[in-house]
Amino acid sequence: KNKKLIAGNWKMNGVQAALKEIEQIAAKVGDYADKGTFLICPPATLLAGARAVAGDALHIGAQDCHSATSGAFTGDISAQMIADLGGSFVIVGHSERREGHNESNEAVKAKAEAALEQGIKPIICCGETLEQREKGEAIGFVTQQIADSTPDRLSKDGEIAIAYEPIWAIGTGKTASADDVAEMHMALRKTLVDKFGDRGHTIEILYGGSVKPENANTLLHTQDVDGALVGGASLKAESFLGIVAAL
Ligand code: 13P
Repeated sequence: KNKKLIAGNWKMNGVQAALKEIEQIAAKVGDYADKGTFLICPPATLLAGARAVAGDALHIGAQDCHSATSGAFTGDISAQMIADLGGSFVIVGHSERREGHNESNEAVKAKAEAALEQGIKPIICCGETLEQREKGEAIGFVTQQIADSTPDRLSKDGEIAIAYEPIWAIGTGKTASADDVAEMHMALRKTLVDKFGDRGHTIEILYGGSVKPENANTLLHTQDVDGALVGGASLKAESFLGIVAAL
């Protein structure tokens, strides 16, 4: 893949005043259009506002969707609603939803399939706990998560993306070593090719967990890393653009 995907996940952060950060990001990322695809996923409350200031160079996406198109699901939003606001991506299966909302691999897969039905690209997340890593179970666990959380079939190249986010690296300032990231991404690539054949090579595998301007250069140029999913450092234009500049 000649372009990397740099995605920001704002989590439950940002009121309307924060749209100025998106405006500033949008004003600059066009300069890097030959090297990357850029995405911000604000909270659902800011999707429309973000889309209005994001311009052509910046994609806007959501952080979760329901697997149904509509219905009696109080508080949820559907992929159709995201598409209706001009959202083109959705994060599914983030560890904060798997843990805090008991989302299973099966549920995550249904959400990813719902996104595809609306022409939205799902970024399907996976990642192990520190305990699993210390027991040597990380690769087995994470590859199984992805085997079970991805749609059964894809109808075009690059239709989904994967994000490997070791749970112990999220919001902690700790990152996995380049060797550990390369090893995991290679294992994930094999899982994707086993499941989807050659099309598995066209799926971006992002790294996430304490990505910042200071470590972006190393992480983005690690073997088999096709981009980054950025939490805290995506909230400010300056730090997000610092990561973009490392491309
Ligand atoms: P941080 O970059 O804040 O560690 O968050 C990573 C993450 O969970 C992105 O989805």
